[in-house]
Amino acid sequence: MTTVGGDIVIIGSGITAANMAAHLAEHTTRSIVVIEAGPASTPFAERTAARKRFLAYGENPWARDHLEDQNAFGVTYGFSPNMHVGGLAMHWGGVTPRYSPEDFITNSLYGIGTDWPYTYEDLDPFYQEAEERMGIAGEQGPPAMDPRGKPYPLPPIPVNYNLQQLQLWATQAGIASWSCPSAKATVPYQGRAQCQRCDTCYPVCPSGAKYSPDFTWDALVKSKRVTLVTGTLVRRLVADAKTGRIVRATGNRTDASGEEVTIEGQTFVLAAGFIWSPHLLLLSRDAAHPNGLANRSGLVGKYLAGHRNIGGQISLPLELYPGLNAQHSLVSKQFQRASYPGGKYLRHDLRLWESSVGRGARLRDDKGNLLLGDALLADWKQRAKGATARVRAYYDVLPHRESKFVLDDTRKNRWGDPMPLVTFKDAPESEALRPWQEEELRNLFRRMAKAGGGEVISLASNANDIGQEHPTGGCRAGNDPTTSVVDGWGRAHDHENLWVGGAPTQPSASCCNGTLTFVAVGLRTASAIAKSV
Ligand SMILES: Cc1cc2nc3c(=O)[nH]c(=O)nc-3n(C[C@H](O)[C@H](O)[C@H](O)COP(=O)(O)OP(=O)(O)OC[C@H]3O[C@@H](n4cnc5c(N)ncnc54)[C@H](O)[C@@H]3O)c2cc1C
Ligand code: SF4
Repeated sequence: MTTVGGDIVIIGSGITAANMAAHLAEHTTRSIVVIEAGPASTPFAERTAARKRFLAYGENPWARDHLEDQNAFGVTYGFSPNMHVGGLAMHWGGVTPRYSPEDFITNSLYGIGTDWPYTYEDLDPFYQEAEERMGIAGEQGPPAMDPRGKPYPLPPIPVNYNLQQLQLWATQAGIASWSCPSAKATVPYQGRAQCQRCDTCYPVCPSGAKYSPDFTWDALVKSKRVTLVTGTLVRRLVADAKTGRIVRATGNRTDASGEEVTIEGQTFVLAAGFIWSPHLLLLSRDAAHPNGLANRSGLVGKYLAGHRNIGGQISLPLELYPGLNAQHSLVSKQFQRASYPGGKYLRHDLRLWESSVGRGARLRDDKGNLLLGDALLADWKQRAKGATARVRAYYDVLPHRESKFVLDDTRKNRWGDPMPLVTFKDAPESEALRPWQEEELRNLFRRMAKAGGGEVISLASNANDIGQEHPTGGCRAGNDPTTSVVDGWGRAHDHENLWVGGAPTQPSASCCNGTLTFVAVGLRTASAIAKSV
């Protein structure tokens, strides 16, 4: 058996953990040890070669980023491609909008959902810190819709010719839009290369322009401020029956040895992401805590939240040049701040991209005649001249208390721990509004098409197969220990030296990409931990 330890033990090494560790390393003198279940993902130095093989042979450069028997059933992929250093964000898109101030006070404003135990203004400095640590490139939107304490650290990704045309179209439809914020270095930043807008971000950015957590881990390990223990799955937290203090964690090596590992520390930080953080709390049940740790409220693993979207394609009487930088987009937050006539509730973001849908080469013309050689090229040139816009609106879904996972005894890992089985569920008020909300979004896109003299090609409700995108919840934060798992700073109500960082603590999931907020929330927790140790 191996024993490892430090003053502060962080469990998980995803994007939230990386930024929390960086904050703690700068604001405390305590030793920090980070425990990660998986191995390191493809190292930066090997990314170009990995991408080449991906392009040439379709070989998956993420093949080793997953522990075969550690799966959260019922989430997007049906498996969990995140068990490695850096977690999911080793392969993310890097889109980083902030939530809007309304997200934190929907109950006060609209009598729906839950107010967070802190406000947008409280989170603003930590949003800024997250943006500076990750090097976010962004354009300030109209301040009334897009309030910020300070400017973005990096200049925005340019709004190219195609997006300029789409921006004019949006303006005709009465919509203010601007360059979508992204974790892509528009100027060289902290050793990362400048983004070349080459559009090959998936599955890996070969140049490192897109932020991924390995940059932070590599720097922290090199500085010797953090010890990163990989290949070690934490399976239990052990709490003192009388005081509730966490006295140690236990787990196993995930290599062939399966060796037992004991992790000692003074302060324990769960930063294992949505699902695995509450999963570990439930697995850690004991005689004094028969329902799992931190679970006086019975809410560990509940109120899982996320959002859905309506997306589509609209053809427009414009001339665009497909392929200028199709991964970049325009964003508007106008509808996150809207009022709701008749008391009906709908909040959503809005994103616009260029699209090549309907603009590709084809083998037969409209009459079914075969097109070959010059005829095919002439037809393609003609088709490429038009314009298609991709549109998408993520809308806010309020979670049911029983939006939850259960420990599924029929699916176990190699040590016999039951895996989570996730079932998202909308709160009744959200469920009742869904048909109206989705039709409103379709109507918005129809109105936009009309304003530009164009036509809707397709519109679809995308529930991401099984439910929700940018999932959060499972350890919701609140001031009342009977209705929440952690307090407003992320400290477990029931265990004074146990903290939960980021996504699991969020009471709701807003209506835009969530990772910037997960990191900002984690940084706010890290600032409280630094003061407490
Ligand atoms: C293809 C793709 C594109 C995406 N694009 C975007 C985007 O553009 N914008 C956006 O906002 N979001 C995006 N996301 C989502 C984003 O990547 C995640 O929200 C984010 O990475 C979650 O970070 P996290 O720190 O909360 O957790 P995770 O990334 O889940 O990290 C948790 C870590 O903890 C480890 N762990 C878990 N349990 C244990 C345990 N018991 N013991 C030890 N270690 C443990 C895991 O191995 C993992 O490394 C995308 C995701 C994918 C897959
Ligand atoms: S556009 Fe190219 S350089 Fe920029 S983040 Fe994507 S892959 Fe990296």
